[in-house]
Amino acid sequence: MDSCDVLIVGGGPAGSTLAWKLGNRGFDVVILDKSAFPRDKVCAGWITPAVTDLLRLDRDAYSREHILQPISGFKTGMMGGAGVLTRYEKTISYGIRRSEFDHYLLGRTNARLQLGNPLRTLQREHDYWIVNKSMKTPLVIGAGGHFCPISRSLRGDRERNGSVVVAQEIEFEMDASQRRNCQVRGDTPELYFCEDLKGYGWCIRKGNFLNIGLGREDNRALTEQVRSFCGYLKEQERIPSNCPANFRGHAYMLYNGASQATVDDGVMLVGDAAGLACPKSGEGIRPAIESALMAAEVILSADGDYQRERLLPYSSLLAGRFGKDGEAPGIFPRPLRRFISRRLMENSWFSRHVLLDRWFLNIHQEALV
Ligand SMILES: Cc1cc2nc3c(=O)[nH]c(=O)nc-3n(C[C@H](O)[C@H](O)[C@H](O)COP(=O)(O)OP(=O)(O)OC[C@H]3O[C@@H](n4cnc5c(N)ncnc54)[C@H](O)[C@@H]3O)c2cc1C
Repeated sequence: MDSCDVLIVGGGPAGSTLAWKLGNRGFDVVILDKSAFPRDKVCAGWITPAVTDLLRLDRDAYSREHILQPISGFKTGMMGGAGVLTRYEKTISYGIRRSEFDHYLLGRTNARLQLGNPLRTLQREHDYWIVNKSMKTPLVIGAGGHFCPISRSLRGDRERNGSVVVAQEIEFEMDASQRRNCQVRGDTPELYFCEDLKGYGWCIRKGNFLNIGLGREDNRALTEQVRSFCGYLKEQERIPSNCPANFRGHAYMLYNGASQATVDDGVMLVGDAAGLACPKSGEGIRPAIESALMAAEVILSADGDYQRERLLPYSSLLAGRFGKDGEAPGIFPRPLRRFISRRLMENSWFSRHVLLDRWFLNIHQEALV
């Protein structure tokens, strides 16, 4: 039977970052992913500069072959309202295409890749796992995103239901006439919040690609809300009238405190599998990458002994970084909702300093060292 030092289930940003770190330290890592890459992932594709820094991404080199849309402003507001334009003097975010970004990150690991290959079976034998009846490993990482089977077996479905965002999204390449009729600028994505503040719609232009979507804390009439959001954007002439309508859905968990399990004997969860997305903005790529870096640190210091006690420092690192007691998750803090009015959302000071700087860009948070 084949064997490896660590087997990672899921080759998204969390899995590939962990493989990259461990591979650089001489670990024999296998990544198992049910999809063949490049694969698409339902996502707006907005990343903060912290992400490229953490990944030590050479932005110039990356942007020569892939889309890396600099963002230096946002238009925000309530659906149906006028909206506020906030500009920054520098690049404060980037737009990427997940099909390219995830493929690139996976490609630079020196892991052995088993793509198009889902996790089918996982058996415990003494201190080892036998994966898909063909691979023996002392450590399995659940990096399979929201529906990760390792996370389900560690946490059970009930625990995982607390704070789920459901979303629908479409990303397509605009033709010449659509490009002319698209008023959304690449450097200025647009975010429009639902009347009940339980979600928001976005419209992000990246080069010739347009990404439109809407995410909510409940899936009540989601399809209807997406349709009416697109209707609103067309009415305002923000997007071309002939945008395709084949939206795809996905879900993910917002971080809700450190009470849920993230490790067990020979197992760790990273990224969406651990439910780490930022409760206010829904940003999930940065927490996925940060969790992978913290997991790598703990794996390296465990020195081959992956009993639960040796892996528990990872849970403490997560709690230290993302908070021990999660605030009530929600795109807007629940206690504040009744004070947030349409007028406040159209106030430029609030939009810049609270909504964008604090809640979306997290500029107050120090870089992960
Ligand atoms: C509509 C939407 C918009 C979003 N927009 C943003 C955004 O703009 N910015 C941002 O930061 N975050 C965004 N997010 C969140 C972000 O997409 C996730 O937080 C991020 O992808 C998490 O990375 P990950 O590596 O943990 O999981 P994923 O990227 O989901 O990767 C998991 C991988 O595991 C594989 N896998 C799953 N099950 C199995 C199995 N059984 N066997 C083998 N492999 C398996 C999958 O094929 C996949 O490749 C958005 C999410 C949604 C739903």
